[in-house]
Amino acid sequence: MVPRESFSSVAKAELCRDKISRTCCARAEAYGVLLFCNTFLPSEIRIVTTSEPVAKRLQRLFRRAFQISFDQRPKEMLQGGKYVFSIIDPDKLSTILDTYGYGKDQLSHHVNYAVLEDSCCQAAFFRGAFLAGGSILDPQKRYHLEFATSHYHVAREIQPLMAELELAPKTVVRGASYVTYFKQSEAISDFLTTIGAPLAAMEIMNTKLEKNIYNKVNRRSNCDMANLDKAVAAAQKQISTIQRLRQSSLWDTLPDTLRLTAVLRVENPELPLSQLAELGGISKSCLNHRLRKLTELAGSCD
Ligand SMILES: [Zn+2]
Repeated sequence: MVPRESFSSVAKAELCRDKISRTCCARAEAYGVLLFCNTFLPSEIRIVTTSEPVAKRLQRLFRRAFQISFDQRPKEMLQGGKYVFSIIDPDKLSTILDTYGYGKDQLSHHVNYAVLEDSCCQAAFFRGAFLAGGSILDPQKRYHLEFATSHYHVAREIQPLMAELELAPKTVVRGASYVTYFKQSEAISDFLTTIGAPLAAMEIMNTKLEKNIYNKVNRRSNCDMANLDKAVAAAQKQISTIQRLRQSSLWDTLPDTLRLTAVLRVENPELPLSQLAELGGISKSCLNHRLRKLTELAGSCD
């Protein structure tokens, strides 16, 4: 069997089909990539990805955003399925740093909100963040989408941007990484739609729907089982009552109708009352009445 492609790579491939149109958005997306990639220092940029569509998009993106190409481009996939891109050329680095208003000695990055004023740019920024530092679990298993950065301030300063997009992720520190994550299916779906992956978003909601239906069916059959158990227990009680009557002297004094009903019950212990009544050619309330009468009589022979 061919293993199913991971949900992360499916979502990323969908995001990469989005056209890179406006320069403002290209810069915002590249900004997200840089702040959530492996290394973003004044002396070196290093981006590692396992996704082929991401590898292709990165080159177009950096050309569009900064008119530069990577110093090191992967000619082919490295072992372990990784593509490694890097920039060490000082001129290229300063072009990039200037774009975001960063100085050459700046080591700790803050989010430059001026680059992310328009909502188109904010969505592009988070698309870049997810492409470079994000992952999502298969919704069949669990609802979880996250992206990680090594920059402390960045993890905090993206919160107001998220709020502007009406999203409220949580954060956690994992080793040297600051992880922003969503655990609710609706939030994950909203986020994916916002950053340009509506198909992946729909798959999340469809999975949720399927799970709901499955749970409902399960609950219903549990409920049916409980009812069945109750009916069986009631029948058993009626049968043991009838046995007691049979062993007593009262049995021979019973009218035929009651005796027939008793035999009917004992011979068909598995039938619910409605079917038992049908079998005996009487109404359910009549059957009920007779069974109650039998119980009463059995009580009197104690
Ligand atoms: Zn824009």
